[in-house]
Formats: sequence, structure tokens, C-alpha cells
Amino acid sequence: MIPATFDYHRPGTIGEAVQLLQNNPDTKVLAGGHSLVPVMKMRLAAPDALVDIGRIAELRGISHSGNSLRIGATTTYFEIANSDAVKAAAPLLAEAAGQIGDRQVRYRGTIGGNISHADPASDLPAAVLALNATLHVVGPNGNRSLSASDFFVDLMTTALDPGEILTAVEIPAASGQSGSAYLKFEHPASGYALCGAAALVALDASGTCASARLCFNGVNSYALDAADVAAALVGSDLSDATINAAVDAHLTVPDPMGDMFASGEYRAQIANVYGKRALKTARDRARG
Ligand SMILES: Cc1cc2nc3c(=O)[nH]c(=O)nc-3n(C[C@H](O)[C@H](O)[C@H](O)COP(=O)(O)OP(=O)(O)OC[C@H]3O[C@@H](n4cnc5c(N)ncnc54)[C@H](O)[C@@H]3O)c2cc1C
Repeated sequence: MIPATFDYHRPGTIGEAVQLLQNNPDTKVLAGGHSLVPVMKMRLAAPDALVDIGRIAELRGISHSGNSLRIGATTTYFEIANSDAVKAAAPLLAEAAGQIGDRQVRYRGTIGGNISHADPASDLPAAVLALNATLHVVGPNGNRSLSASDFFVDLMTTALDPGEILTAVEIPAASGQSGSAYLKFEHPASGYALCGAAALVALDASGTCASARLCFNGVNSYALDAADVAAALVGSDLSDATINAAVDAHLTVPDPMGDMFASGEYRAQIANVYGKRALKTARDRARG
């Protein structure tokens, strides 16, 4: 499979990249290439030009600023999964990144590409949603920041405007007595998520649930925030019975996705099972 002809640009700065994207509307950003190149080879996409952002130093790396962790858009899954800073401040993200694809995919694929592509079967959208991440973006009209909950719009559709580049993902650092878990029911051949459950819980001094998050990949056309389940858990003892009851009563999957791999009904059932398991694992980790 051979892609249609395209021009290739490799800018050295974000400004140059924005300029190149502005000059030709049929230009696409190239990051790790592990989603874009396959779709170009299948001729499902045939952009006139690619702007390879892989050599822009300011887009790469992991740093702390204040109480948050900032991860540059071209930071790879391998770097995220193996970063001590990410494991300490956002272990959920490290756990999700470490489960993506195989080693080759983890060496090349980037957090920015994963999120911008917004494939419902990808692993990072639910993780950044559960972590209440802020997504920093630059484009022809300057910089702006979006919450993860505003970013994922629909199947492979985000709130990025034409010509915009996702530059960094900012995550509030974990504090207090908290725990998280990312559990994936994966397609056995590709490793993509038929269902990925991202859970976070924080406990107060008495061990009561102070806050909770539960989000899913793979079951809906875009990352699903099970906010009603989380709300039902706040103030509870987070016992197995409480978690089971909250998920059974409050987890609804609007329009669950069905395809040749799994029906919508089956995915919704997996979400119920994996949602409970992820919350219990997060609770156990929070309790230490
Ligand atoms: C064999 C295989 C198995 C895989 N398994 C999994 C899996 O288990 N879980 C999973 O989550 N993913 C999986 N993937 C997909 C992989 O994670 C991709 O890397 C990811 O979907 C896209 O990231 P990328 O950096 O490769 O982006 P690219 O492929 O370069 O780009 C993807 C899209 O995002 C846009 N884009 C990229 N970066 C930016 C940016 N900074 N700003 C704006 N737009 C941008 C591009 O223009 C393009 O439209 C798999 C891929 C393969 C080939």
C-alpha cells in the first residue's frame, strides 16, 4: 500500500509549524505517524503536505510547574510510561501509556497524536479525561487552553480548529491519599481497547471517598465520563458492595459502539465489569 504523493516539511519551531499549516489548508501534522501513515497508505487520507513536528524541541518532554505536570505533545508513550515524574504525579497516565500497542508503537506514538486522533479505541483519551487534564493548543489565532471534557467531541473529532497544534497536556498532580487504575479489555490482535476503564479515587483522613472519577475508552464514539457513578461514590465507604451498587445503578452508556469485534451490548457489559474492577483497584491502591 502506497500513499498518494505529498510534500514533507520539518519545521524547527512551533511558529514555523503554525505558518506552514496556515499556508495550505490541506496540510496535516505528523507526530509519531502510527495512525496517520497507515490511513495515508490505505488512501483514507491524502493530504497535500505533512508538517513533521517530531524535531521541535519545545514540544517534547515532561516537567513540573507548580502543582501540575506538563507533558509536551510529542513525548512518546515509552517516555511517559517510564517517567518517575509521571508515575509519581499521574500514575494513571503511566499505566495507560504502558498498555498501548507493542514496544514499537510505544517508542514512536505520542501523547499529542493519540489525543488529537481521538480514536475511540485508543487508551489515552479516558485517562486524560479522568485526570481533568488541560490541553494547550496553538494556532493562527494564538494560544488557548481547553479542558479534556471540552476537547473530545465525537468519533475521531476534537475541538481543535483547522491549523491548530496541540502543544502540551497539563495534569494536576496527585495529592493526599489517592489511587488510580487503568484496566483494558483489549483486542487480542491489535491491542486496541474494546473497553478501557480509567478510575481515580481520593480518600479523606477517615478513609471515606472524598472524590472519584470513572471514564471509559472503547465503548462510546468518544471517551465517556461516568460522572453519575463518581458522584454516587463521594462520601461512601468504597466497599465492594457500594462500588457494585453505584456502577449497576448509575453507569449508562449512551449509544454504545458496535462493530465486527464486539456488539454495543457486549461493550456496555464489559464496561460494567471493568468499571467495578478499576474502581476497586484504585481504592486498594489508595489504601496502600
Ligand atoms: C499496530 C498498532 C497498534 C496500536 N495499538 C494501540 C493501542 O493499543 N492503544 C492506543 O491508544 N493506540 C494504539 N495505536 C495507535 C497509536 O497509539 C498512534 O500512535 C496514535 O493513535 C497516534 O499518535 P501518533 O503520535 O502516532 O500520531 P500521528 O499518527 O502522527 O497523527 C495522528 C493524527 O493526529 C494529528 N496530530 C498528531 N499530533 C498532533 C498535534 N500535536 N496537534 C494536532 N494534531 C496532531 C495528525 O495530524 C493525525 O491526524 C496502535 C497503532 C498501531 C500501528
